Amino acid sequence: MTLALVAVVVLLIAIAIVALRARKARSSDSGGKRSDGTATCEHCRAQFDYFLVHNGFNDSAYAYCDTCGMTALLSGWATNIPAQVELRVHQPVTAEVDPWLRPCSCGGRFRGHASPRCPECHEPFPAAGLTSEIERNAPGTKVGWRWQQSWSGLYAIVIENRMIEDNWSSPSQNIPPPPP
Ligand SMILES: [Zn+2]
Ligand SMILES: [Zn+2]
Repeated sequence: MTLALVAVVVLLIAIAIVALRARKARSSDSGGKRSDGTATCEHCRAQFDYFLVHNGFNDSAYAYCDTCGMTALLSGWATNIPAQVELRVHQPVTAEVDPWLRPCSCGGRFRGHASPRCPECHEPFPAAGLTSEIERNAPGTKVGWRWQQSWSGLYAIVIENRMIEDNWSSPSQNIPPPPP
């Protein structure tokens, strides 16, 4: 009787270990891809994963590529901020900061006043158009949180994990400001 009990306990422990391992394997399978949920492009109906970045918690500023909508996050603590740049955090970068950002890999430029874009059709997202999906996906909505409905507030959005951090140009690469 006692032996049978011991056998059952050992079996249960073994099952627990296997289950834990399986869970661990699954979470690393996602490759660390971060997502707060999916939202829909109102132009082409494509679905995409996104996550929100609170630039207050992060002490960062942000910009979007004016061509593909990739997000640039610029930490106020980065050690490579050019000396001439006055970076104000918790908001999009100001127009004086734009020229100091290295261009996007797509050839576009990061700008504080640009919008994130659909990864499929490249149309800019209207911030208010995503309200119902963002609020549905955010746990805080139940306790009164509301989406900021603009691309100039505390939150930045990252679409399909497409982001770059602290992409400052080095002094030798300073690019003259683009024509207005
Ligand atoms: Zn781009
Ligand atoms: Zn689209």
